[in-house]
Amino acid sequence: MTARRPRILAIDDTPANLLMVGAALGRDVDLQVATSGRKGLAHATACPPDLILLDVMMPGMDGYETFGRLQDDPLTRDIPVIFVTAENSPDDETRGLDHGAADFISKPINPAVLRARVRTHLTIKRQGDLLRSMAFVDGLTGVANRRQFDETLEIEWRSCRRTASPLSLAMIDIDHFKQLNDAYGHQAGDACLKAVASVLKTGMERPRDLIARYGGEEFVCLLPDTELTGARDKTEELRQAVQQLRISHVTSGVAPMVTPMVTMTLTISIGVATVIPQAELTAEGLVAAADSQLFEAKRSGRNRTCSVAFGQAKP
Ligand code: GH3
Ligand code: MG
Ligand code: MG
Repeated sequence: MTARRPRILAIDDTPANLLMVGAALGRDVDLQVATSGRKGLAHATACPPDLILLDVMMPGMDGYETFGRLQDDPLTRDIPVIFVTAENSPDDETRGLDHGAADFISKPINPAVLRARVRTHLTIKRQGDLLRSMAFVDGLTGVANRRQFDETLEIEWRSCRRTASPLSLAMIDIDHFKQLNDAYGHQAGDACLKAVASVLKTGMERPRDLIARYGGEEFVCLLPDTELTGARDKTEELRQAVQQLRISHVTSGVAPMVTPMVTMTLTISIGVATVIPQAELTAEGLVAAADSQLFEAKRSGRNRTCSVAFGQAKP
């Protein structure tokens, strides 16, 4: 796989300066240009670049104001900005850096200096992006982690509330997993968790669907814009796909009777809750409703899905 070319946005009201930047950076970068702060902001939000070169002196919205707006928007806040200015007094330099700029380059631009600074800040940006993405991924299974789930749930709750759309949530728990660990060891247990996570992830078809590891051997699946019947169909597919992995598994049967070890196939139980978010309901309530359906699925025999319309009186 070839890495994509870094995307750089240069904002300067003098077209000749933009041409110079283009000549200095060459074909190794994907350069986009804007001739005003306002156009630059529009570019940056439409297609966030990896780095911004920002002229300080511009008519209308100057570089400092443009920078402030970039900082205010979560979409552009983490993009490093290098200020480019003709005024190279120490005061100008420290003002930019005090505002949180990544760096400062003075005009006339020296192409070698520009290339070196850009290379350095692209490397730092790549490392930061990697750390941020790792903070949201479960280390064992590679699916989203609990933190990512909590944040996405908040966002989707608000989004579905705005559009009065249904939001479905499924809590998924592996059946008799403790016995599998006890019989085959934790490494085999970990391999099962990875296999189950991979099946669940493959089953998520819409871009907004999210599968996350909720903790231990529990996963959670968030299905925005999905009615209860749709969520039930989807989770039934997931349940069958896990069963079709045909991971063999032993269980000692039902306590407290002394029963022989029985070989069985690894299965999951699922609790689904669907809601149209409203002021008097909460995302935590939706999780609790799905959790109690999961409890019901376990209680009534496992390897099944139970579901409820959260926030609606039972017919
Ligand atoms: P139930 O059908 O009622 O869900 O039974 P269970 O045995 O799956 O449920 P329980 O919650 O009692 O046990 C969960 C077990 O999952 C405990 C632990 O052995 C195992 N487990 C949790 N996290 C991990 C993990 O990261 N790796 C491995 N290998 N096992 C884990
Ligand atoms: Mg379990
Ligand atoms: Mg459990």
